[in-house]
Amino acid sequence: MATSERYDIVIVGGGMVGSMLAALMAHSQIRIAVIEATAPKPFEPDSHPDLRVSAFSPASQHMFRKVGAWPLIESMRICPYAHMRVWEEPENLVVRKLLSGHGNETHFRADEVGQTALGYIVENRVVQLALQQVLEQSSNIDLLMPEELSSLERKGEDVHLFLKSGNELIANLVVGADGAMSQVRKAINIGVRSFDYPQCALMALLQIDGPQQDVTWQRFTPTGPQSFLPLPDVDGKSYGAAVWYHNPDDIQQLQKLPLDEFQDRLVVTFPERLPTVQKVVAKGSFPLTRRHAHHYVKPGFALAGDAAHTIHPLAGQGVNIGMQDVAVLADQLLKAQDAKESLGSLKVLNVYEKKRIQENRKMICTMEFFYRAFSNDIAPAALIRTLGLGIADRTGPIKRQVIRYAMGL
Ligand SMILES: Cc1cc2nc3c(=O)[nH]c(=O)nc-3n(C[C@H](O)[C@H](O)[C@H](O)COP(=O)(O)OP(=O)(O)OC[C@H]3O[C@@H](n4cnc5c(N)ncnc54)[C@H](O)[C@@H]3O)c2cc1C
Repeated sequence: MATSERYDIVIVGGGMVGSMLAALMAHSQIRIAVIEATAPKPFEPDSHPDLRVSAFSPASQHMFRKVGAWPLIESMRICPYAHMRVWEEPENLVVRKLLSGHGNETHFRADEVGQTALGYIVENRVVQLALQQVLEQSSNIDLLMPEELSSLERKGEDVHLFLKSGNELIANLVVGADGAMSQVRKAINIGVRSFDYPQCALMALLQIDGPQQDVTWQRFTPTGPQSFLPLPDVDGKSYGAAVWYHNPDDIQQLQKLPLDEFQDRLVVTFPERLPTVQKVVAKGSFPLTRRHAHHYVKPGFALAGDAAHTIHPLAGQGVNIGMQDVAVLADQLLKAQDAKESLGSLKVLNVYEKKRIQENRKMICTMEFFYRAFSNDIAPAALIRTLGLGIADRTGPIKRQVIRYAMGL
């Protein structure tokens, strides 16, 4: 029989961002429902790492600690990295000649800013499982999964959510944390400014020789970056992920190749510092679109994470800025609850939008600058940026500022 239940907040989407938002309000007086369409598969310690991984900044790690999810993540698996190397080998022969003898690489080190790690590579599923475990232990939160939003309607001060199961939820505030194609965002008519990059990303899970690595690197090429992410060892085997950015047609061709043929292409194309690849375990490709919602809030509604913005993943910041969104939103909602204010009121939600929309705009512009500055082979531009990478490596205070910004410190 269909039911109707009332909550203070319903979060649509129990991915990494939506689950973190609920976890930040666990054990509070706020009654919360999280609805998630797809239950993640349980963790199997002996299985190889997933293809979908993210680099989490120390700022995000701090949030995982705060909600009690970090020990759960560590008990499954993580891979800290202490070094990041970024360089360019210009294709332009004139530039190459001019630059011979000059350093063209920036080496970021965690110890330059007094830290042990620049970040942590974690499988998205591991994060989701850990956060959902936190939610299950909190009496003020119901995790409804698998459950899917069908439609919604605002009536007076309330929002009514109609679910695929036939059940209904009523809430003062609905948060859309339902990803890039957000149904909530569409239902409440918030538009987005978007741009499809003429690039896709192909991620390949590699079984590699040698022990677990602690260095991530990225080489810029005119057709797009090529990166390596270290992954945790499993059962005595070492893993890493290669990320290959290229135009959509070429990525489609690469995606169609059998794994052994793809491995040959990868090894000849990627830099020599790619660890020896024993085998390519899996691969998958992703289209890349920049999106930014015109607004993050409306009376009774807020958007967070990919529902509000998506950015080029070249610096691995997408989910980290989503985490910063929900840190601000949860703080605002907890304060509003203490002050007995309506959680869905614009007075409460506008503070969140104002704080986050500016910050996210800055990050989107920074990523855009890197994307545009590095995705061409115009000789003067190639010369300036390659010299820039070398100079950045020798300019202590600026370099430390960049590291601290990327770490979210
Ligand atoms: C190739 C690639 C590499 C990346 N690497 C990094 C990185 O290294 N570091 C980083 O910070 N970011 C990275 N990102 C970005 C990162 O993956 C996203 O920012 C992040 O997954 C967004 O999380 P989210 O919870 O907002 O959305 P999602 O992960 O999309 O989660 C949304 C959830 O909502 C659920 N949902 C959707 N609709 C409904 C509905 N109607 N009813 C119920 N549930 C629903 C979905 O099932 C899903 O679980 C990368 C992205 C790509 C494409």
